[in-house]
Amino acid sequence: MLTRTEAIVLKSRNYSEADLIVTYLTADRGIINAFAKSPRKTKSRFGSSLEPLTHARISMWGKEQTAMPRLTQSDIITSFYQLRENYTDFINLSKLLEILISLTPEHIPNRKLFSFLLNMLELIKSAVQESKDALYMIAQIRLLALIGYAPRLKGCAKCSTHSLDFYPSSGATLCIRCASVPGSGEKKFIRTNNKVIHFYTHTIEWPIHITNRLKPDQATISELSTLLDRHLDYLLSKRLHSSTYLTSTAQ
Ligand SMILES: [Zn+2]
Repeated sequence: MLTRTEAIVLKSRNYSEADLIVTYLTADRGIINAFAKSPRKTKSRFGSSLEPLTHARISMWGKEQTAMPRLTQSDIITSFYQLRENYTDFINLSKLLEILISLTPEHIPNRKLFSFLLNMLELIKSAVQESKDALYMIAQIRLLALIGYAPRLKGCAKCSTHSLDFYPSSGATLCIRCASVPGSGEKKFIRTNNKVIHFYTHTIEWPIHITNRLKPDQATISELSTLLDRHLDYLLSKRLHSSTYLTSTAQ
């Protein structure tokens, strides 16, 4: 069966001598992997349409539920080469794509996620360099919110008391009373501040087209970045452990 869809290249990896496996976020089928035959042989237009971040219209051949359909056609809609050539953009976007791939299940259609990523690429492409640190941060927060992994930073998650202590193991801020469950030992937390929490909350709650009114200072961005990295470390290592566990019990 032939399928056509719009897609954004998340990553591609070599397979055998000349072939590639391309991971896409598609408009209609969520995250998928597709097999591309010999795109590396020549510097073709087909080959360059498989570069990370490229927005393309693709056709694939394979059964509906096949694990690896074969890519038969790929036409660039927007190449976003500017984002690949700008080192800072590419590093920050690679992190965003990594989060997306690690925390989103494959084959679950999500139009909102597709439009979000496309809008973000356009926004970052057209932004001036000075406003980009805020934009990368906004993109990361909104992505986490969209896929259901945003930390909760609005008072204690259990009793709503004001709190600035974020506990990575709970993915939330907790007050000292709710955090100290007898017998659970001392839990590690990061103390944040009101500025960070305001910026974070507005980023999630405000419509995307007015997020450019958010002007966080460098300290706020860097504190929030540390907090989110800890949150992600915890999430991803837990996920990694649970998948190792699943593999070992499956044998
Ligand atoms: Zn509490």
